[in-house]
Amino acid sequence: MSSKVYCYHCMTYHHPETMRKMVTRSGERWRCIRSIEAARRNPDERDAFGEQQSELNRLKARSSLEGRMLERRLLTPSCQRGLD
Ligand SMILES: [Zn+2]
Repeated sequence: MSSKVYCYHCMTYHHPETMRKMVTRSGERWRCIRSIEAARRNPDERDAFGEQQSELNRLKARSSLEGRMLERRLLTPSCQRGLD
């Protein structure tokens, strides 16, 4: 079990080993290296990166829903099939 650290840039949680501590006016905050690198490469990419993240979250939410539905189908008692 690994605890995750809140990333103020993505507004989500990442593994601490993928993050870097940033000192801001409001104190120490954690931000993932990925977003730092992306911002360094091209500051204009920051918005695109955020959109990519939300798209990823949408996909993740959808796939987990589909996963649950599939799980339910698989858990449906198979003995019903043996009745006929
Ligand atoms: Zn992040």
